[in-house]
Amino acid sequence: MRFIADRMLGKLATWLRIFGYDTLYVGDFETSDEDLFLLENFTDRILLTRDKELYDRAVRRNRKAVLIRNDSVIDQISEMKDIGIDTEIRMDRCSVCNAILRKPTDREAKEVMEKEGIEENLRERYELWYCEKCKKLYWLGSHYRNMVKFLENLK
Ligand SMILES: [Zn+2]
Repeated sequence: MRFIADRMLGKLATWLRIFGYDTLYVGDFETSDEDLFLLENFTDRILLTRDKELYDRAVRRNRKAVLIRNDSVIDQISEMKDIGIDTEIRMDRCSVCNAILRKPTDREAKEVMEKEGIEENLRERYELWYCEKCKKLYWLGSHYRNMVKFLENLK
């Protein structure tokens, strides 16, 4: 399943990427009419929306769409679970930009760590993943543990 999320669902989009799903967010595109943009572009993706009117318009166009009913992210994730997504945290997609992650080269890891003031021994303690686009490193550290904890609230 691949998705595109409306303006209200930025956090949900981030989580879907964390679960490994290819998910675009309308806020990452420059467009003057987001609803029309969502209806007319990326039609091979399931449209996720919090907006009943947009949902109805999508359905009238035979577009696959999901109307998200809850405001809280954990409940939104739960709704997505009901339609069959797997809520396991994966390290294969950048949660910021949706690009596929890969192992960093020594030089890339070093550059990011220097720039962000991350301790050099991170590399010995954790396996690292790298987003080429954001020049960002990922590892299963405290941020990961917080995510696991957050997901324990899933019903
Ligand atoms: Zn990225």
